[in-house]
Amino acid sequence: MKRIFSLAFLLIALSLLSCATAKPCAPCEAAALPTVATPVKPAPLDRYERRLITGGAQNEVMTLVTNDTPAGDSFLREKAFDIDPDDPLLQLLRSRMLETVKKAPGVGVAAPQVGISRRAAWIQRMDKPEKPFEFYVNPRIDQYAPEKATGWEGCLSVPAGFGSVERSTWVVVAHDVAGKGRVSERIDGFTAVIFQHELDHLDGILFVDRKVPGELMPKDAYYEMRRKEKEAAAQKEKQNEK
Ligand SMILES: [Zn+2]
Repeated sequence: MKRIFSLAFLLIALSLLSCATAKPCAPCEAAALPTVATPVKPAPLDRYERRLITGGAQNEVMTLVTNDTPAGDSFLREKAFDIDPDDPLLQLLRSRMLETVKKAPGVGVAAPQVGISRRAAWIQRMDKPEKPFEFYVNPRIDQYAPEKATGWEGCLSVPAGFGSVERSTWVVVAHDVAGKGRVSERIDGFTAVIFQHELDHLDGILFVDRKVPGELMPKDAYYEMRRKEKEAAAQKEKQNEK
């Protein structure tokens, strides 16, 4: 009996020793490998976002979030998350945002302006014939021109009025394109200003944060100023014809 116990003890001792000295088993080796960062898939739309998007048909506008209430202002100051380009609700969001910007009317709209804190925006391509609206998924500005110019800006989310903002004269924008992955493009002129304004929205920045110091010009006064400018230009053209 005593011999059996000592034999068992010896076997256990030997097996422990072999475990300690043996090469790591497969799972241990796998765990020892350095971790490689994988691209993070954007979080799916949450229940609140899905309800907002599906709250109307594809030709129905969405309610604009404005900065004239504390809740609206704080929502517009949030940094937007990426959106899954394959999300089944993206097409409905895209369609309803287009209705919204065309009806407003505006030259661009970002998803946070319709209550969806995601990186997506419609931008009117003033630099292309017919000036089409184009939809951008997960856009980011990779490069800003060092040259800057100042121009008037207004915003569908800022009812108080217009202000002068200094912007880069061109930018390089990257965004997701179905079937192509990430695509990069240089944008010039007024369209570059629209990109900077709309993509600022995705980072929780409003034009009022960047405008030159001073009061905003109320919208009515701004439109009147524009009307007078057009009138003066037309008169000048008439005089030149004489
Ligand atoms: Zn805006």
